[in-house]
Amino acid sequence: MKEIEIFHAAVNHIPDMALKIQKTGRKIMGYLCSYAPEELIYAAGFHPMRLFSSKSEIILAENHLQSYCCSLVRGVLEDSLTGKLEYLFGTVFPHTCDSMQRLSDIWRMNGKYPFFADVVLPAKLNTESAKVYMTDVLARFKKDLEMAIGKEITDTDLKDSICIFNQIRKNLSAIYDLNSQNPGIISDRDIYALVKGSMIMDRKEVAGLLSQIVSHLEKMSPSPRKGKRLILSGSVCDTPDIFDAIETAGGFIVGDDLCTGSRWFEGRVMEDEPPLSAIASRYMARVTCPAKHSGLVTRAENLISLVEKNKADGVVFLFLKFCDPHSFDYPYLKESLEKKGIKSTAFEMDDQQQSLGQFMTRIETFIHMI
Ligand code: SF4
Ligand code: SF4
Repeated sequence: MKEIEIFHAAVNHIPDMALKIQKTGRKIMGYLCSYAPEELIYAAGFHPMRLFSSKSEIILAENHLQSYCCSLVRGVLEDSLTGKLEYLFGTVFPHTCDSMQRLSDIWRMNGKYPFFADVVLPAKLNTESAKVYMTDVLARFKKDLEMAIGKEITDTDLKDSICIFNQIRKNLSAIYDLNSQNPGIISDRDIYALVKGSMIMDRKEVAGLLSQIVSHLEKMSPSPRKGKRLILSGSVCDTPDIFDAIETAGGFIVGDDLCTGSRWFEGRVMEDEPPLSAIASRYMARVTCPAKHSGLVTRAENLISLVEKNKADGVVFLFLKFCDPHSFDYPYLKESLEKKGIKSTAFEMDDQQQSLGQFMTRIETFIHMI
């Protein structure tokens, strides 16, 4: 489908995509985490672009970050220090895990870009006072953006932006649902190119393309796909070869709990509420990542409901090596799944040292076992 190819081209050539965006007159605002308030960034006239590691060898970043930080933060810092991110006007760091916060400090102290913001969202996301605090933090971030652009961001700007992001979220959710109901309708590699592309491409273009893809998929009726239905869970998965390996091993993905997957696009911002409070409400309602807190067993409950809703045969945990928040959550998630008779396996990834051979062996064994 030619619309899907546009996403593949974008994710395979991110610097070219950045150049194309710059030519439209929008300055580029980088972010690394799905808690970055993209609606605000876009409403200010910037282009929010999620940063992924180019996977170059870590040399300069060694001087700033220990080798036991995850490969995402080390890789993106290396890209910044080697000038690969010259297209950025600024970067936004939500307050999440320790690695991300230390990266934020290093980024600020190196001061390479005109704009920098820490968005210190609350860690606890299940109380009314946290929502009030979060709305205040968003208001402050809005002021920072207004200082940068020299004008006010109006409610109309915000509502227009929210509307575009809601369309993207709605369409990605529809694609996930269609794929779960008719596996094979679209490949796993294609799905993750759509999600990643939606984080880096022009958002109006993305919203339009995704609508066309949904209409196209709705008309398809593929023959039933054989294999094991899997849920992925973890942080960032930026290794498309993993999806091919799963397919080759006889599995396919019917849902995920990834921050490069459904955790990024889940939920809608209410369009008829005051915009900042509506953005805060979505964060409060969205399934948390382990760097936030919304209850002792919320993540396990969500994972179990994902397995049940998608009739999955098993769960594959994908962690970046040295990702403490996800590693700390893993034992209780695994135990919660076991209590329900759901089988799982875990695999550590590293952007700089990919070990697909090992992954292939492990996933084949897991798929034979379930
Ligand atoms: S896993 Fe959590 S802290 Fe890490 S990048 Fe994703 S949303 Fe941010
Ligand atoms: S992968 Fe883990 S350690 Fe790395 S930024 Fe995300 S949550 Fe933090």
